[in-house]
Order: sequence, then C-alpha cells, then structure tokens
Amino acid sequence: MTYSLDTRRYSLPFRSPLRTAHGRWSVRQGILVRLRSSDGTTGYGEIAPIPGFGRESLDADEEQLKLLGAMPTAEVLASVPADYACVRGAIAGALRAFAGAESSLKVTRDLLPVTALLPAGRDVLGAIPGKVELGFRNFKWKVGVGDPADEQALLDDVLAALPSGAKLRLDANGAWDRRQSERWLDRCADYPIEHVEQPISPESRGAIDILMGLAGDYPTPVALDESLVGQVDIETWLGRGWPGVYVVKPGILGDPAHSLGLLHRAKARVVFSSSLETGVGARHALSWAFSWPGEARALGFGVWPLFQDERFDGPFLAPFWRWSEVSLLNPELLWNALS
Ligand code: MG
Repeated sequence: MTYSLDTRRYSLPFRSPLRTAHGRWSVRQGILVRLRSSDGTTGYGEIAPIPGFGRESLDADEEQLKLLGAMPTAEVLASVPADYACVRGAIAGALRAFAGAESSLKVTRDLLPVTALLPAGRDVLGAIPGKVELGFRNFKWKVGVGDPADEQALLDDVLAALPSGAKLRLDANGAWDRRQSERWLDRCADYPIEHVEQPISPESRGAIDILMGLAGDYPTPVALDESLVGQVDIETWLGRGWPGVYVVKPGILGDPAHSLGLLHRAKARVVFSSSLETGVGARHALSWAFSWPGEARALGFGVWPLFQDERFDGPFLAPFWRWSEVSLLNPELLWNALS
C-alpha cells in the first residue's frame, strides 16, 4: 500500500512562558503529519521533541520526513531509524487510523484523575486555591528553579494550602546534585509526597548509580522523567530493576506499544505525561493512558490551556477526564487550523 504523506510545521506561542530548570520556554515547535490512502482513510500524528530531552531535534526530524518522499510505502514508513523516535511515533500514531488499531486498543477505564501543574517559586501559593476549588486532589510543583533553601521553606506552606488527602508530586527536572537530592528526600519522608521526579540530571556523572541509590535509601518514591527519552532507556532501567516510578511521555517513545508492554510485564509503576504537544499528539498519548492495564495514577497532563491559540489545546482542564470526552478531540480541525 502507498500513502500520501503531508506535513505542516507549527510554531505556537504558549499562553505564558514556562519556567523550568532547563530555562524559559515560550514557543512550542513541532510538525503535524497526515497520511492518506487512496480509499480516503486519513490518519494524523505529531512530531514534538522536547528541548532538553535527549538529542532529537525538530530540524533533523524534518529532514527525515523529506527522505520518506510524498508517496511512501509501508516499508518506507517503517524504515525511519530509531534515533528519530518522534518521527516514528507520529507515523505509528497516524497508521493506527488505517489498522483500526485505536478502536481495538482496549480502553481499560473510563475515568482518570489529572494532576494540576503548579508554577515554580512563590507563585505556587497563589495558584493552589483555584485548583482546589475546581476539585483537583493531585498536584505537581516545579522545584529546582530557585534557591533550594527558599523552596524547601515554601514546601510547608504548599502542603498547608492543600486539602487533606491531596497528593503532591515534586519535579526537579534534574536540577539538583546528590547532596541536594538527599536533603530534599530527607525532608519529604515526613510528608504526603507522591514522588520526587528526576532529582538528578541524566547528564550528570554516574547518574544511574546515584538515582538507584536515592531510590533505595528513602521512603519517598523517586520518578524518572528526563532519564527516559526512548525505548532504549526504558529497557536500561527495567534491566537495572528500577524500583521507583516511570514517567512516560508516549509522544517521544517511538511506537509506545513495545515499551508499554515491557513496563506492564515488569509490573512497573507508570505515570503518563504530556510532551506539551497539541491536541493531535495529546489524543494519541492519552489513548495509551486510558488503555494501560496496570495501576492507574493521575495523568501528568494538567497543562491546558497551554497555547495562545486555544484551537491547538488538548482536553479542557478538569480534575478527571473521561475517555469518551478525550476521544472527541478532532485532529483534522487542528490540521486545518494550520493552513
Ligand atoms: Mg518531569
């Protein structure tokens, strides 16, 4: 079978720039991919590598797409090298429309809780009451942005502002060294912290051994995020017997079916997470979350509304999502919005 392949590159400003340990991020760039067959079947996918996650770049991805040509066969589509995981993932996503694969994807639950994303620094305190009012009970706070002592002092206020029974995730985006990580994990032991995400950068010396040590030495679970760029990383950490949480961004995994199968067989604790992609990629990513057969954890997708042009946003932010609502996201509308 031959497909017709079209692509549209986008450059979408965020409603407000994101402050992370990687710096300021104000414009999301990516590529939407459309595959069509002669019988009119159409599938969409999204390429949206994340700056600071691995080495994949959008320009290199675009070059890869050009190599596929305008009328690729299934064999040509399958030939994208593993280094271009986002390209492979976008193609796999678009092809699901042809195999009827999404309809056969077994949705295991209709309803999943969503994590509310809290801003870094003192802004966190102003953001909490509104989210609590909306009904959120799972929160994620970006740390590792300001002075660690100030942030640790704020932690008490943050926890005091949350309703009882709420869970808090901390995300350091790899900003700490070993000593700082130990101090934070010491502190967290007394609190209802669901997990501490990526305390150490995957680029730091001996990162794997340090992370294994931290995960073994403290009661608060440690989660891997930036350490999991693709399938190879997931295999590496499963091989090491990682005892903590895996934060999985389906959008950067290549075809997620393989990695998620391995994680499920290993009974791994998995949190599904946004790549700050548009609704096209978010719909694919969430379909994996809703069909995950393992233990359900709050979705790391509390990012909406995200773009200045709200047509590109994913599902309307709510403390819980139903698959029946998420599945209404229409990729064709987003594609047309880029014309
Ligand atoms: Mg993270």
